Amino acid sequence: MQLKGLVGDKVTMVSLLLACTHLVALETGKWLHAYIMKKVIEVDVALGTALVDMYAKCGSIENAEIVFEELAEKDVMTWTALVVGLAMCGQGDEALKYFHEMQISGLKPDAITLVGALVACSHAGLVEEGISYFNSMTKTYGIQPSIEHYGCFVDMLGRAGRIAEAEELIKKMPMTPDHFVLGGLLGACRIHCNLEVAERVAQQLLELYPDNGGSYIILSNIYSLSRKWEEAKRIRELMAERKIKKSPGCSLIEVDGVVHEFIKGDSSHPQSPVIYEMLDDMLSRTKKAGYVSNKSEVLFDMDEEEKETALNLHSEKLALAFGLISTSPGIPIRIVKNLRVCSDCHAAIKLVSKVYNREIIVRNRNRFHQFKNGSCSCRDFW
Ligand code: ZN
Ligand code: ZN
Repeated sequence: MQLKGLVGDKVTMVSLLLACTHLVALETGKWLHAYIMKKVIEVDVALGTALVDMYAKCGSIENAEIVFEELAEKDVMTWTALVVGLAMCGQGDEALKYFHEMQISGLKPDAITLVGALVACSHAGLVEEGISYFNSMTKTYGIQPSIEHYGCFVDMLGRAGRIAEAEELIKKMPMTPDHFVLGGLLGACRIHCNLEVAERVAQQLLELYPDNGGSYIILSNIYSLSRKWEEAKRIRELMAERKIKKSPGCSLIEVDGVVHEFIKGDSSHPQSPVIYEMLDDMLSRTKKAGYVSNKSEVLFDMDEEEKETALNLHSEKLALAFGLISTSPGIPIRIVKNLRVCSDCHAAIKLVSKVYNREIIVRNRNRFHQFKNGSCSCRDFW
């Protein structure tokens, strides 16, 4: 369009911002923001919301707040973009502040705003408040809880260590639990070392997703942790019999306006030799800082591998190594991952953020990890 001498309008900008949001292409998103200003394109509610959403979902929540505050007109979607963005970044209190302000301004939260509010309560440890939001959804807001709301509720209970209640809730759900709901409870079992419930959840995952290699591996690993060797072997055999393969992990990173893609053990990148050198440097420096490759906890993970070498080649580690060599010191590194980040990568990235003094943001599907100075915004629960 630009080569043809055309100037994009509001609609073009909304579409482009949406593309940036999906790819976590913050630099390109910022460039678009500058283009909008330069070409004096009118920032109406739709475009303003797209900007807030882009900044929030690309992990630049400060910019999302600035754009939000400057907007003359805001609708439910604008407020929702900010509430959800803040909640996903682990800023629960701030998200709830906007959730209340939104209602004071006379707007009624929709189903997605309530997802944000529940995630916020979960992150801020406000379990009782979260329970009351959930229970009053139909009465106060006229919204029937959907599977997403149940997922948030399970996550909140699990995070607080209320595993039995979370399991009970799943049983009472009016719909079949999905990967996220069960995955949330499984995550809680991992954190709170509850093998008994974990086994039941993993069995359920396998029944629901017989084509997903991850389900077999988790269940087999949980059997191993419970020392049920025969069962563990049986599940591995079943996986082989059914010829099930695991979908590979994949991470994206944007550098200078180009999105680079890495899969596990990838060596197809033109800069591969330097990336692997950086990876070695990363591992030796984090080891000195106390990192030990964690294989036992990894047994619980959706995205797991048994050998340390395989763990070291996870796509997010490769993307991170590439990020470190191709961006200037002090610049935050943003990665988007298709699967859940495993415990080992999580621990490693925390240390990388400290050792290299970098802010690292990893988004996977519905969650954000903001690593800074050795800790993560998820407070090690995801
Ligand atoms: Zn990993
Ligand atoms: Zn995290």
